[in-house]
Formats: sequence, structure tokens, C-alpha cells
Amino acid sequence: MMSMSKYLKGDKMHIFLFGSGGPFNNIKRVASSIGVIAAGEFILVDVGPGSYRNVDMMRLPVSYLSSIFLTHFHSDHIGDLGEANMLSWANGRTKALEVYGPKGVSKIVNGFIMAYELDTGYRIAHHGANIMIPEAGTPLSKTISISDPNKVELFFDRNGLKVYAFQVDHSPVKPALGYRFEYKGNVVVITGDTKKSENLAKFCNDADILFCEAISFNMLNTMISGPAKPPERLIKILKDIQDYHMSPVIAAGVAQEAKVKKLVYVHVTPPILTTAIEEKYLQGVSEIFDGEVILGQDNMTFRLKPKN
Ligand SMILES: [Zn+2]
Ligand SMILES: [Zn+2]
Repeated sequence: MMSMSKYLKGDKMHIFLFGSGGPFNNIKRVASSIGVIAAGEFILVDVGPGSYRNVDMMRLPVSYLSSIFLTHFHSDHIGDLGEANMLSWANGRTKALEVYGPKGVSKIVNGFIMAYELDTGYRIAHHGANIMIPEAGTPLSKTISISDPNKVELFFDRNGLKVYAFQVDHSPVKPALGYRFEYKGNVVVITGDTKKSENLAKFCNDADILFCEAISFNMLNTMISGPAKPPERLIKILKDIQDYHMSPVIAAGVAQEAKVKKLVYVHVTPPILTTAIEEKYLQGVSEIFDGEVILGQDNMTFRLKPKN
């Protein structure tokens, strides 16, 4: 079992961008996942395909992983849930992982439990119940319900770390959530997948760091009308996805209205493999948003010192 890591002690907030990409596989970015360590809690927000590999390789105290918060149930946000549970358990986790999410989370968690049930049995049989603690092997689902869609909902409150969920608009995916972390005067907000809604800026208000989704409509439209004419069904999908996401410029407007200090683009889509294309993705953003802009990359880390 790993010793209590430096991250779990002290009063800083540590944030890890494990997966900065969207649903299209590419060599630069795996799908959505952000880790937060604060107040002795280790939490993952979403665990998209490929992201748990990054969690594992950063040598973090995964045996202390306590919770996973899911924003919604698109596969690019949940694909590694089984691996996150299995591998943190194999690394010595002694308590059951709690998986929070909107209505439907129990179905997701039960499905993963079923898929991993045989392996769970093999591991206990092979290593023994004192090494693979049986009650820690099976995750627990916790449904978050939002009582007022115009307000943030406090659902997690431990040792001074408060986490609020808020409803976002990713229709037809309903409900879909974003998360707001508050700890010792610092605020970190993760939008999840959403288009711009009336309340979004309010929910992101005064964030020290906003991890905001954005897909480049310009780049998708260039793909649609470009010389390498994609097949009809891909054209349909590339058009459809623009109605439930934000463009980088729209996201910058939300960040500006919310007086965010640092805006980190995540769910970067379409895949961006060169610097020239990075500029295209960020085109127009600095004219709208006054704060610091970061194009998210896998394994970026952030640290916030306590303000109070
Ligand atoms: Zn989605
Ligand atoms: Zn997504």
C-alpha cells in the first residue's frame, strides 16, 4: 500500500488534467478526466477512455481515490470507470469507491459492476481477501438531484471542501451536470459538456480556474466543406455536435461574464496536432476574454494555495 502522499496533506488544492480531449481518438489527447486533490480527498471528474492510464502513470496516491463525479453518460466521459475502480482497488484502496452523477448513474455503475464481476472474484481468490479487500471492490452509486435548476446544489462537504453540482444544457443528454469546487477561498469549475445556457456564467462566477469545454465550429465546418469531403454520415455528425457544445469564442464569452481568472479549454475537438491548428482553435478568444487562456493538454497540473 502506497504511503500517504504529500498531496493529501496540507491545504493546497491540486488539479490534474488527465484527459483534455473529446470523443475523437488521437495521439495527443485522451478523453475527459480531471483530478482534484484537496482536504485529503482524491476525486476524479469523468473518466473517459484512456484517461485512467494517465492517472496511474502520474504516480498519484490512487489507493486514496475516494470518489468519481460523472458529468453525464456519453462514452467519452465514462469509458474508464471500470479500470479506475479495478486498478485503484488493486493498488490498495480499502474503501468502496463512491460514484456520483445525475439520474441514471446507478445503471452505469451496476453495468460496470456486472462487467467486472468475474475479474473481481478472480482477484480476491488469487491474492486473498486481506490483500484485495472484498467490500472495497464494488463501487457505490450516488445520485445527485438538482432541486432548483437555477441554483448550484451542494452535494459533497468534507473537511472544508465543498462541491456543488449544477445543471447544464447538453440536450438530448438529460440531465447533465457541471461541478464547482470550493476550498479555502479557491474556486475551480468544470463545465462538463454543455452549450451556453442562461445560468452557465453564474455557475462559473469568480472561478480561479475554469475548465471549459469547447469544440471548434470553424474547424468542423472546414472539415465538412473541405476538399477531403467526408462521408455523409460523418458530415451529419459533425453538424449535429455543434448544437450541444460551445465554440471557443462562445466559451470565452462565458468566462468573461463570469470574471474567471484562468480559462482552460478541455474536450478539445476536433483533434489538434500542430501549433498552427492551435491558433485556429483559439482564434478570436483573446479579443473576448481578458484573463489567462490555456489550451488544455494531457497531464497538465495546477496548484492553488489557500486564500483563507
Ligand atoms: Zn457529451
Ligand atoms: Zn464529451
